[in-house]
Formats: sequence, structure tokens, C-alpha cells
Amino acid sequence: MIAARLPDGDSLALAKDADKASSPLKDVQLISRGQLAPFFAAANVVAALLFSAALWGSAQTHLLIGWTALIAMVNFIAMRWAQSQAVKCVGRSGRAVPQWMMVGDVLARALLWLSLPVYLFDGLQPSDQVVAGSVIAGIGAAGLGLVVVPACAIAWMTSFTVGLCASLLLARTSIPFQHMLSILFTLGMSTVGVLTVARWAFNQLKTSADMGSQSESASLLLQEYEQRGVGWLWQVDAENRVVYISSRMSALLGKPSNQILGHSLPSLLGGNAELGRVLLEKQPFNSLEMELKTARGTRWVSMAGDPIIDTAGRFEGFRGVGSDITDVRQTQERLTHLANVDVLSGLPNRGRVRQLLGEALRTATVSNVPCAIMFLDLDGFKPVNDTFGHPKGDAVLQAVAKRLCDEVGPNGHVGRLGGDEFAIVIPDAQSRNKVEQLADRIIMAVAEPYMIDQIEIRIGVSIGCAFGPIDGATVDDLILKADLALYEAKGAGRGIARYFSSELQFEQEDRVRLESDIRQAIDLKQFHLAFQPLVNAKTKKLVGFEALLRWNHPQRGFVPPNVFIPVAEETGLMAALGEFVIDEACRAAASWPEPITVALNISPKQIILPALPNIVAQALARYRLPGNRIELEVTEGVFLDDSNRTLDVLGRLRALGVGIALDDFGTGYSSIGYLNKAVFHKLKIDGSFVREAGNKAGNVAIIQSIVQLAKSFRMSVTAEGVETAEDFERMRDLGCDTIQGYLFGKPLSYDRANQMVLGLGAKRMAG
Ligand code: C2E
Ligand code: MG
Ligand code: MG
Repeated sequence: MIAARLPDGDSLALAKDADKASSPLKDVQLISRGQLAPFFAAANVVAALLFSAALWGSAQTHLLIGWTALIAMVNFIAMRWAQSQAVKCVGRSGRAVPQWMMVGDVLARALLWLSLPVYLFDGLQPSDQVVAGSVIAGIGAAGLGLVVVPACAIAWMTSFTVGLCASLLLARTSIPFQHMLSILFTLGMSTVGVLTVARWAFNQLKTSADMGSQSESASLLLQEYEQRGVGWLWQVDAENRVVYISSRMSALLGKPSNQILGHSLPSLLGGNAELGRVLLEKQPFNSLEMELKTARGTRWVSMAGDPIIDTAGRFEGFRGVGSDITDVRQTQERLTHLANVDVLSGLPNRGRVRQLLGEALRTATVSNVPCAIMFLDLDGFKPVNDTFGHPKGDAVLQAVAKRLCDEVGPNGHVGRLGGDEFAIVIPDAQSRNKVEQLADRIIMAVAEPYMIDQIEIRIGVSIGCAFGPIDGATVDDLILKADLALYEAKGAGRGIARYFSSELQFEQEDRVRLESDIRQAIDLKQFHLAFQPLVNAKTKKLVGFEALLRWNHPQRGFVPPNVFIPVAEETGLMAALGEFVIDEACRAAASWPEPITVALNISPKQIILPALPNIVAQALARYRLPGNRIELEVTEGVFLDDSNRTLDVLGRLRALGVGIALDDFGTGYSSIGYLNKAVFHKLKIDGSFVREAGNKAGNVAIIQSIVQLAKSFRMSVTAEGVETAEDFERMRDLGCDTIQGYLFGKPLSYDRANQMVLGLGAKRMAG
């Protein structure tokens, strides 16, 4: 009945818990059981001795001695067994001890112990029964020695409760009721006490086993963390002296641990100020990156740490982790480098140039020392690429990059924006003079010939420059201004440097206005042609006219073609304007008798139009004009962009019977390379060259050789810009076939030109 009062649910839970308990719990149970085994065995033997002594004389002696000896032997064996299990069956490799075996051991010992008292009980005197009952109750309380395995304690206590109750119920001579009650009370109380202690002990064991397994896992994880090479652990005391550091870190620092332990961590890590500061703040920190000079060169480490605060709230130091992030850092640096560098030249790329300019501009704004940005565009680079191929083009770009770096030196940053465009950021542009000198030096250096695979290549460079923050207060603004200056430099004949100015901006704005005016002028038919006569050098007779485009703007007045034609070319208006010229020139030519020819100028922008031969053919057809009555004048500039395409178009024009003249010979690029392409029937020597011949003897020789060369290619030669009788005679004597110039007539209106033609007819008729 006392057993029935046992908290059944609890004891079941205890047994179940032990069953599914983790192995650390079982280990702790086995160890504690081994430790308590001598106490339990001794309690058994002492109780047996007490029982025997109490009944000495009342019971058969040999039974008492035999029973006591058996208990002593069985308990000794059981004690040794429990002790050996506490050693052998513990840990991962230990063989498990099933719980039924432990419970069986306890039950066997309980039954052995109870066997004699229960057997003798009925025959004993009531006073001896009281003694026997008390000893049984007492030995029941020895279940205390089994608290570590609750199931064993339950088995023990239950056995003795049942044994005692059975003895008392079976006894024919009844013990006084109060004695029986006190014995049962003693056993009942001790049973409840033992089971309470068992529960408590079990929970204690479980908690300590859980903690043990947690700390074991934690230390295994830390070991793994240190050994895997991921990172290292460190700990410092309240004075930042190293208390613990992983061996990997001491290896990285190249110092044995005795030179590290007890020393200040910040000073060991190269006196890192940032680390010193965060340690001083006693606050947790994370991802603190620092550079270390080690025996293996410069390394980068990242550290994290937490302050250690004891239970009384006192600061005891720091504990944390660290890792070597050198590889990550190097990869990052490589990626940043790649993102900022132009692969071909190794120079900063467009993005980086913008950054550098931004930095220079900020400093300039703060320090009042202006900075400068130069935009460079190579002149004549495209033909190099087209003629010699991209590998040689690349080699030229690399050579240019080197020359630029040599010229700029430490005074600025050279970058490549892409293609044949470069930029130079000059952080200190206090002396405008120096910047201008640098630009001039660069122009000269780039113009020096390049020897690439035994081929001599020549190019030039145009430079646009702007100063910050005077010309522009933002990167974009400054870039815009430098670009404008570059555009101006390109337009002004290339190979020169231009600096941004407000006039330049005004010119730019004016160009924009001019563009819209040209558009309007085309619609309003404000353009017309003027005709300048050409005469035979020998007979001075009119042989034809050059049609020159004229624009009389209602507000602007007369706008020279040198002003509006470049704008029309840039803005894509040249095609429409050119078509008008072709039509008008053909109309005029058709109105005049043979052999009067009309020459008209064709812009490089028109030459690249594949439709040009068709347009010309249609105009000829429209006025029923034979092709040989018109001449197209082109300058060498037509070969700058795509010479093969140009030659193809010129060939198709020539096939229409149209004459092709090479205009303005002696200016610009003057290369005789195109003369033998068999597309030209005439060469026109530029007026400036003709007029200078009067002063420069060298020019005469040059003109002479040009004329001879042209003749050898069966080309006729025209001298332009002849203003004086001397010029005329000189040119005639040098072998020029036709002469054009103010001497024989300025560009005339159609009517005046027509009169001249009619006059010629009249003269002829008269003659
Ligand atoms: P260009 O084709 O070389 O034309 C000859 C230029 O020299 C003309 O200037 C003419 O007026 C000028 N000139 C002729 N004789 C003399 C002289 O004795 N002394 C001086 N100082 N100058 C003389 P213009 O009309 O101002 O034309 C300039 C340039 O504009 C032309 O040079 C030509 O390249 C271009 N141009 C004119 N009309 C057209 C056109 O319809 N289409 C294209 N694409 N260009 C044109
Ligand atoms: Mg011309
Ligand atoms: Mg000309």
C-alpha cells in the first residue's frame, strides 16, 4: 500500500528519461553508481550483521551465518561489477549497460536479503519481530545509495515495502499496532525521501551531463575552427594583455607563444590605433580590418571581439575571433583595379578619369588652386587602323600612352577614354602657362613618327582643355567644356590645343543657331550659286566655271561658305545642300553651249553617300547633259575616313563620264599617294600656294614637280586664286593648263556668267 502511494507517473517519467537519456547522462549514472556501490554493499552487510546479532540465539545459528556470508559475498561481487562498469562502460567506446540488468541486480540482492527475515518472521517473538521489522525498514532506506538510477531505487524500496508488509500480514502473532505503524511509517517516509532525492539527483545529473555535452561540442567546434584554418581565437585581460591566442595566429605573427602571452595585443599587431580605441571603449566590435607586417610579408586580418564581464559586472577583458583575409583583400583589389583600368594601355579608364577629376576638382575648390582636364583626340588614327590593321593600331595607342605618361610625369594622371581618345587630369594647374607648355610638348611628342614593325607611322593629336572650377564647377560641366575646346581644336585644323573660354562657348552657341538658320534657309531657298570663270592659260579663253555656293541671310547678311559648310557637314545637312548644288550646276551647264563646263564642289560628307552617283546621274538625265560637261571637285579630306569606299564612289562617278578634280592641292595633307588611283582627271593647285610662289622660290620648284607628276598621270592642271598678271604668267610658264582667279573674274551671279558666255559666243561669231 505504501508502494501504491509512490508517484507512479513521476517514477515512469524518471525511468523513461533515463532510457532515452543521452550517453553523457548514462555515463554520469554509471560513474556515480560505481562510486556509491561500496556504501550500498556495506549497508547491506551491516544490516545483515545487525539482524543476525539481534536474532542470535532465537534463530538457528547456521542459517544466520550462512545468510550473512551469502549477502556479504553477493554484495561484494555486485560492488566490483558496478565499479568495473563505471570504468569500462563509459564514453563513446563503452559497451552499454541495459537498465534491466541494473534493476535485476538490485532485485536479486533485495530478495536475497529479505529471504531469511520473511522466512523466520512468523516464528519470532513479537519483540524480535519488532527488531526484525525495524532492520528491514532500515535496510529499505539504504535505497539512498541507488538514487543515481531511479529505477533501481524504486525496485529496492518496493521490494522492502512489499517484503515487510507480507511479513507483517503473514505473522500469526501480531505485533502491537502502534509498533507496526511506526515501522511502516519509517519505511514509508524513507521511501518518499529516497524517491524525492532520486528525482533531484537525476535532474542534477541530467543537467550536468547536458552541460558537459554542450561544452564538449563547443570545444570540439572551436578546435575545428582553429584547425581548419578558417580563423583563430584570442583573449585578453582587462589590461589588453594576451591571455590566449591560437597557434595559427602566433605562426602568422612569426613569434612563439611565450613572446605573445602577457604582451599587449594592440602593440603585437603593429600598434594598431583603431584596435586600441575599440578595446578602450569596452564595446563589442566586428570586422575590424587591419594591415599586419609579418615575416611572410604584408597580411590583412579581420577581428571581432566581445568584452568579458564577470557576474559582478566587472570588466575582465576581451575574447574574440580573427581571420586572415589577405586573399579576399587581394581579390578585391584586383577587381577594383580591373574596373578602373583600360586593358590595352594599362592607364586609368573613363570611369577612373572621372573619379580622378572629381578628386582634383574638390581639392581645387577647397584650396583655390585650379585643376585642369585635357581631352586628347588623335588625328589621322583611323586610316592607320584601316591601312595597317588593328594590331599595329593597338601598338600605336600603347606607344602614345607611353609618350603621354613620359611628358606628364608626376604632374598629372593620364587616362584612356576609349578608341583614340585620351585624357589628362592635372591636379595643380596654378600656372596656366605650364599647362599650355605641356599641351604643346604633348602635340610635338605625339607627332613624332612611330616605328611599328619597321613601318613608319605618323599621327597627330588635338587637345581641348578646361580649368576647374573656373570653367566648370562639376565633373560633368568641366568635361563638357574640355570637350567643346577639343571640338574647336579639331575644327581649327587639328594638331593644336584649344582652351575653353566664354567666347568659345558663344561660338558654340552661335553654331547651334547657325544650324537652325541653315535648315530654314534650305526650306526658304535662300541659297544660290555663283560662277567663277576658268580660262585657258594659253588662249585666255573662257573654258568653264566653278559653281560656288552662296548664302545671303536676311539678318546675318552674306555668310561665307567656309563658315556655313562645316556646320552643314557636322549636322548632316550637307546631303540636302549638296543635292541642290548638283541640280543647280547641271541646270546652268545645260543652259550653256559646249565646251563650257561647270565644276562643283563635293564635300567629304557627300562622298560617303552611296546614293551620290545616282543623284548625279539623275541630275544629268534631268537636263539631258552629257557627263563630261560637269566636274566634281573633291579635296584630299575625302580619303580620311574610308578610302576604299571613296575610291569606289569616285570610280562610279567617273563611269558616268563626269570629270573629277583634286581640289586645293598643296594644303592640308598633301599626299601624292592618291594621284595614281586613276580617278582624277584634273589637279587644282590651291590659291594660297599659287600666290606664295611669288615670294618662295621653293614653291615654284614644288609646283613644277607637281605639274610634271600630274602630266605623267595624264591629268590637267588648274592654278586657283590667280590675282595678278605675274601669278598668271608664272603659272602658265610652269605648265598649268587652266587658270582661275580674281584676275579673270570673281564668282558671278548666273546672269553675269551667262552674259560672259553669250559674249564669248558673240566674240566667236565676230571672230
Ligand atoms: P574652293 O573650292 O577652293 O573654291 C575657291 C575659293 O577661292 C572660293 O572661295 C573663291 O571665291 C576663292 N577665290 C577664287 N579666286 C580667288 C583669288 O584670286 N583670290 C582669293 N583670295 N580667293 C579666290 P569661296 O567661294 O569662299 O569658297 C571657299 C570654299 O568653300 C571652296 O573652296 C570650297 O571648298 C567650299 N565651297 C564653296 N562652295 C561649295 C559647295 O557648293 N559645296 C562644297 N562642298 N563646298 C563648297
Ligand atoms: Mg573648289
Ligand atoms: Mg580650291
